[in-house]
Amino acid sequence: MKKPIEPSRAAFEDVVVSLVVPVFNERMMLPLFFERVLSVLKQLSLRWEIVFVDDGSKDGSSQYIQEVIANEKRIRLVRLSRNFGKEAAVTAGLEQTRGKAIIVLDADLQDPPEYIPAMIESWQSGVEVVLMQRRSRAGESCLKRWSAHIYYRLLNLTSQTDIPVDTGDFRLMSRKAVDALLTLKERNRYMKGLFAWVGMSTAIIRYDRAPRAAGETKWDYPALIGLALEGLTSFSISPLRWAIGMGLLAASLGVIFGLWIVIKTLLLGEVTSGYPSLIAMVSFLGGVQLLSVGILGEYVGKTYMEAKQRPIYVIEEIVENLKKVEQEINYELVESSYVKTV
Ligand code: UDP
Ligand code: MG
Repeated sequence: MKKPIEPSRAAFEDVVVSLVVPVFNERMMLPLFFERVLSVLKQLSLRWEIVFVDDGSKDGSSQYIQEVIANEKRIRLVRLSRNFGKEAAVTAGLEQTRGKAIIVLDADLQDPPEYIPAMIESWQSGVEVVLMQRRSRAGESCLKRWSAHIYYRLLNLTSQTDIPVDTGDFRLMSRKAVDALLTLKERNRYMKGLFAWVGMSTAIIRYDRAPRAAGETKWDYPALIGLALEGLTSFSISPLRWAIGMGLLAASLGVIFGLWIVIKTLLLGEVTSGYPSLIAMVSFLGGVQLLSVGILGEYVGKTYMEAKQRPIYVIEEIVENLKKVEQEINYELVESSYVKTV
């Protein structure tokens, strides 16, 4: 088997800014995305590249991007073999970047590309990470806004790593920060937490999050609840402590209740009552036990998934316009079955 292609950083030493764009069924969005992003990028006086990661789209997103690549050497497409989820897609994209500053951007234009120049300026002033913090969440329901608010607070209560409030994956990271991030090899990739774990000097830009320009969100409530649980359990083991706390509380209540019954029986003699309180106790204890077992199971499951050491994603092919690249900067073509030249 031929060896997979390494992003040849030497040939692209002059790439300054890399955009990483995860794409999952965003065909409707792409024309507008290219229009807005390219108009911003073309005004920059530094070299840029875009790495799209097609996370198993079934709506022709890949084909569309390939058509654009045919005329634009600065765009590459990493096609994953199936849908691995946004977190894996972003990781795959980050691994293929060659720039000195890397920006992660959603394909649905919820992260306005017009902020890119400001992000770069902020990075050039000497920080390693430029965080984009949402000022508003236009187009999202009250319930979503409210649940996001509660969730961030809860997350920070539990985890030892401070996870910044109201930030998503939209951010700029220096090469140093990305390389540090990529050393984290865990399979449960809770990106927000991983980003925060890396730390480094950080600037914050506040922005207004736009509503999705077309298509619909891939996150329904069950998926969001899954992500929320992932966040809570992958960055702290305090839920296990809560389980212990609940157990202790239930046990102490049980002891007090037991004593009270004994005393009552001694003083008032035996009366066959207490059926409702008995049922209440039994179901309370049952609930506490099931919850604790569930929490425990969550961690055991995580350990199991990590123990398998599976790769985070599988690349089916990397599409790039090598011919054009070769003409322009004398790029040494690396023979690889992974690379398809348009
Ligand atoms: N995405 C992805 N894989 C997935 C789900 C989403 O690559 O399994 C991409 C999607 O195409 C978009 C970004 O991740 O570019 C954010 O997705 P979405 O807009 O659905 O999430 P939200 O903005 O609602 O958090
Ligand atoms: Mg979105």
